[in-house]
Amino acid sequence: MAERRIKRFTTILLLFLLPLVSCLQEDKEEFSFNYTPETLEVFLVNMTRDYPSITSLEVIGHSRSGRPLYALVVSGNPGVLEREPRIRLVGAIHGDEIITTQWLALFIEYLLKNYETDSRIQSLVDGRCLVFIPMLNPDGVARGWRYNAGIVDLNRNFDEHWTLDYDHGTGPFSEPETAALRDYSVGEMRFHLSLSYHAGSVVVNMPFDYGRESEGIYPAEQTMVEYFAKAYATSGGFLQTPGLMGGYYVDQGTINGGDWYVITGSLQDWSYMKSGCLDYTVEMSRGNPETPEGMRQYFLYNRDALLAYAEEAGRGLCGRVTESGTGLPMAGVRITVPGGDLAVYTDSEGYYHRLLLPGSYDITFQKSGYSDKTLTGVTIPDSKVPVVRDVQM
Ligand SMILES: [Zn+2]
Repeated sequence: MAERRIKRFTTILLLFLLPLVSCLQEDKEEFSFNYTPETLEVFLVNMTRDYPSITSLEVIGHSRSGRPLYALVVSGNPGVLEREPRIRLVGAIHGDEIITTQWLALFIEYLLKNYETDSRIQSLVDGRCLVFIPMLNPDGVARGWRYNAGIVDLNRNFDEHWTLDYDHGTGPFSEPETAALRDYSVGEMRFHLSLSYHAGSVVVNMPFDYGRESEGIYPAEQTMVEYFAKAYATSGGFLQTPGLMGGYYVDQGTINGGDWYVITGSLQDWSYMKSGCLDYTVEMSRGNPETPEGMRQYFLYNRDALLAYAEEAGRGLCGRVTESGTGLPMAGVRITVPGGDLAVYTDSEGYYHRLLLPGSYDITFQKSGYSDKTLTGVTIPDSKVPVVRDVQM
């Protein structure tokens, strides 16, 4: 049903936008460099038109001023939930950090154009579900400022250690943009690994933002959190990016968020604690590049890092949880490991993916109204291909 809805939407949008598309194609260089909410829309529609078998476009909500918030799914079978790691990639939470949208658009184009001919990209797209939300704050982009149209910093408006302040909103998820991202991330679909991009420095910022690791506030699964952050920071050219952050708490291009500076209500803290998704804030540049060539350089600093990171998402355990007797998929089953604090959940089709580093684990499945189920001594090898275990409850 969802698939049909998306296709119908895409067709309607195409009819409206085709005249605009042909006039913009003449200025492709400039167009692909400097996105506005309107040109991004054209770009995303173009991509779904040119690569219909591996893309689908969704509107996940609207901004405070009514602009659509787009999510582009890139996967071997888009529009259908499958047993595969799902990776969410978000840009322009801060409207003045437009490089983040440009970068995600370039990466989308790179994946789609090379899918047929590059076996690495083909297996990545076929084996993962990549969901791009290149511009979460279109009102801020249109105004050229950090905040949304309600003068709220969206990266302070999520429901994890949210605090009241002049730019944090009237409450957690008071803003339509953050509420839309929440509903999309804990609805039919679940995400397992994600990144949001910013342009204030160059560093991979790890959970938690709300407290300092140096003062004892850090995730219980800190080893895993550091592993995936370094998988991004140390792959490809990221550590060569000009302006790379140094300092006492920086480790191979990564830093605990709070040790840099404490913030409350951030996306990555909410993702980790409330949605079961391992999420990082990637500061990819100190400001926006001024030329297409400058933009291309930032693309190259991050391209192989993101490819490697998305491949790493295969680590761990996956499967499908069904109800014994009926065989129906079970949504919202909570999956934990002893001593861990990352609780993941099954999606609406009963699929789960639990990131784990190599080792032996007891894994518990819980849902109210059902007896708990524990898989004991599951061995996770050093592999980016997940171990598969289907479970009945
Ligand atoms: Zn930012």
